[in-house]
Amino acid sequence: MYLLRIPRNASWVVRKVLEAREQLRIRSHSHGTISQQMQSIQLGGKFSIHKMYISLLPNHPKVAWKYLTMHPRIHPRHRFILWLAIQQRLATVERLLKVGINVTPECAFCGLHMETFTHLFFECRITTNIWRRVLQWLGHNKQPMRWEDEVHWMSQIAKKKGGTAEITSCAFAMVIYKLWQARNNARFQRKTFQPELLIKDMVIHLHVRGRNNATWRRRPQEIFNYPH
Ligand SMILES: [Zn+2]
Repeated sequence: MYLLRIPRNASWVVRKVLEAREQLRIRSHSHGTISQQMQSIQLGGKFSIHKMYISLLPNHPKVAWKYLTMHPRIHPRHRFILWLAIQQRLATVERLLKVGINVTPECAFCGLHMETFTHLFFECRITTNIWRRVLQWLGHNKQPMRWEDEVHWMSQIAKKKGGTAEITSCAFAMVIYKLWQARNNARFQRKTFQPELLIKDMVIHLHVRGRNNATWRRRPQEIFNYPH
């Protein structure tokens, strides 16, 4: 039975049974003896389909930033770029050079340092200044930190309920998205980067969304002032 290959012409039911066998075989290497496995799917000495289901779920490691990248309030377009950024998969100069694509190495914002991921987020004085202004605007009394620390801090915020936490999560995703978009425009279309325009766009976006959201509307009025 264990050696039986899944025949191509087998019916759907037979294939599912044989695939389940494969899953159980893989589990047997990591989940102890057969009797230990049987105990893990029993409740009061009886087979429990619920426990069986739980035991077969893939055991992916939990990542701290999961709540942030799955935040329901963050716009899907911003969430996708944030998800790429968190996994450091954005095609920065550093990555392009590694695969043999030659581009101007300097940062498109400051022009002083090589564009690496950590420089863009947020070692560059221009990008860090934007994020600092947004943080202060939202009432967070902190300075921008290293990327990993910032993502960790944001992941804790994303788990919280309430207007400030939701707006901060959306603002963070939007800053990443807008900076990446501005970097592409400056680098590939020679468009001049205008930090004020980026912040204005973000504020308008949050205002418009806040109007239709009772939780956001309850925020003190100062949150909807313009960032200094
Ligand atoms: Zn820079």
